[in-house]
Amino acid sequence: MEFVYKARPARVIFGAGSLRHLEREVLELGANRALVLCTPEQRALAQSVADRVGARAVGLYDQAAMHVPIEVARDAREFAQACGADCAIAVGGGSTIGLGKAIALESHLPILAIPTTYAGSEMTPIYGVTEAGLKRTGTDARVLPKTVIYDPELTVTLPAELSVTSGINAIAHAAEGLYAHDANPVMSLIAEEGIRALAQGLPGVRRDAADLGARSDALYGAWLCGTVLGNVGMSLHHKLCHTLGGSFNLPHAQTHTVVLPHALAYNAAHAPDAMERIARAIGADDAARGLYDLARENGAPVALKSIGMAEADLDRAADIAVANPYWNPRPIERPALRALLQDAFDGVPPRRH
Ligand code: NAD
Repeated sequence: MEFVYKARPARVIFGAGSLRHLEREVLELGANRALVLCTPEQRALAQSVADRVGARAVGLYDQAAMHVPIEVARDAREFAQACGADCAIAVGGGSTIGLGKAIALESHLPILAIPTTYAGSEMTPIYGVTEAGLKRTGTDARVLPKTVIYDPELTVTLPAELSVTSGINAIAHAAEGLYAHDANPVMSLIAEEGIRALAQGLPGVRRDAADLGARSDALYGAWLCGTVLGNVGMSLHHKLCHTLGGSFNLPHAQTHTVVLPHALAYNAAHAPDAMERIARAIGADDAARGLYDLARENGAPVALKSIGMAEADLDRAADIAVANPYWNPRPIERPALRALLQDAFDGVPPRRH
């Protein structure tokens, strides 16, 4: 056994109602002038977050948007400066936390993240900014949130379908983490437990979006899966989703949900240990089929054609995905990849090509 394990410093406060610790956590950061960030849709929640810190909230910026457009990042940075902010509280999903990261990258403001989806961005030093239609991503320790408050009560408003797809988006981080070239035994433990917790929580969330027990399981799983994303490299699945999201404007969490079973089927024979651990975590005989069933049985989309992909674009998607070489347990073979994309487009159960 040989590996490198690096712990990333983050303070995590978890539990239903844990938002009540917000002011204590702002002070713990040594901060006194918080800027609250959110999307336009989550302004009311952000206002209630600002109210909790009273006079320590010096501004509220509500223009966070998918993929962090550069204009929004610049505008928010200027707003942070004008407010004299000494920390940013990002309350929302990956888009809002991504905006916090874009601010932290240039201003060094510490971020306190309050995630309300299962995307996992709060646990990673990865940032992305979109300029002229192109998303530029990078890794920088400065963008990793210093403190994360996970309060399952804030996730009950996340609609059931988005909850399931966002949860499977998180499972994808852990699944690819299990066969990463730089995998390590600690991350693999975290990955398996994260998948287990999400697979346990999502059906309950789907039955009753306000079930706090199920919401806690799912958010706990999302934290663990996000940790994996922040620590080890991703492969074919994330590359495909990045291509489909970036070049064809497909919705983030839904794309992950549709592609994951097929990406796992592609890699299965080259990563048998990872497949065994995923299957065990979800209580299925087969990892790829089990995740396909988890999505379908919980009302999530299973076909690219149902989330806005055009069949005529599948060839171009395959070309883009093979264009930049990246590590994957199985070599990237265009014909098999094209067949995988066709299966994902049609929504048939995953199979090996
Ligand atoms: P999102 O942040 O775009 O949120 C989608 C919508 O749901 C928004 O309108 C948001 O306001 C709303 N919403 C969020 N939480 C809600 C709640 N609890 N109740 C009701 N509405 C709610 O979606 P996402 O899937 O969390 O994030 C996707 C983005 O994050 C993508 O741009 C992706 O690239 C990025 N991401 C980055 C990383 C990273 O490590 N850098 C990791 C994962 C995702």
